[in-house]
Amino acid sequence: MKATYRAMQVKTPGNLELVERQTPAPNPGEVLIAVEACGICGADASDIDNADPALQPRVPGHEVVGRIVAIGANTPSIWKVGQRVGVGRLGGHCNECTECRRGRFNLCRNQPIVGSSCDGGYAEIMIARATGLVSIPDELSSEEAAPILCAGIATFNALKKSGAEPGDTVAVLGIGGLGHMALQYARKMGFRVIAVGRGEDIAADAARLGAHRYIDTYVENPADAINAMGGAKAILTTTANPTAVSALMPALAPEGRLIVLGVGKDPLPVSTRSLVGAERSIVGSITGSPYENEKTLDFSVLTGVRPMIETMPLARAEDAVQKMRSGDAKFRIVLTMGDQTDAH
Ligand SMILES: [Zn+2]
Ligand SMILES: [Zn+2]
Repeated sequence: MKATYRAMQVKTPGNLELVERQTPAPNPGEVLIAVEACGICGADASDIDNADPALQPRVPGHEVVGRIVAIGANTPSIWKVGQRVGVGRLGGHCNECTECRRGRFNLCRNQPIVGSSCDGGYAEIMIARATGLVSIPDELSSEEAAPILCAGIATFNALKKSGAEPGDTVAVLGIGGLGHMALQYARKMGFRVIAVGRGEDIAADAARLGAHRYIDTYVENPADAINAMGGAKAILTTTANPTAVSALMPALAPEGRLIVLGVGKDPLPVSTRSLVGAERSIVGSITGSPYENEKTLDFSVLTGVRPMIETMPLARAEDAVQKMRSGDAKFRIVLTMGDQTDAH
């Protein structure tokens, strides 16, 4: 193992810099991972913009796939050196808090948030808690598997929690990194799938990803269009734009659920009448546990769901983040580390 490794860390809020760091040793309960690929998620932008300069400079990235190169003490024997593993947004539950004790590992209160409260995968090397590790199936390349670890599980689990059943109508607002996975999973789960986006340029992609119908909000009122089809049993929102989200609320069928995945600062205006009268609900959903992440990977292998990716080398992470921010990524950019690492 090399004594140092390259990482892209937050230099000042909003800016990254390429640095050489000392390779650490894993503490008890941790493993050291040689990163092979790391997806760029929308949440990375706020991690980069809101990093606290008073803390040690943070390495973003929470769609990480790599191989275990060292294992700390007291680590479960299921994890071996050389094994390919992944880490998503949730950095490993504590097994001690109330949420862990009732089996809700994704709600653990003592869990690092990868790329935000602990260093993530914009680096050749990363430390990870063993409780956060996900086993990667051989059928997926590291570049393909990476986006499934956040964009994939976030949408897969949200659909599972949506209350919609095969044949029901499900709408997806925002056809980007998360939305393009949601359309594929929704189609494979047997829903009638409606994609809601801005502009005609993504209509063909939405259809190819599995949407039965594409609604361009520039030319149609999405709630009217969905209601004309009988309303939606579930609506997944991947955008934080409160105006776009509330415009869709009237499209929810009785007992329908709006599942919020996109995070933003602005409050969401909601008509209390529409909630009470037909027992509609609004729920948030945060990715899932490593076990659920493995189920997401397995479902992707089983049904042929893959992220549409473009790869860029680690050293170009700043350009890659800029491209993601501009909305030009189709649909996920994945950083690769192989360009300058030693082969072994
Ligand atoms: Zn993410
Ligand atoms: Zn816990």
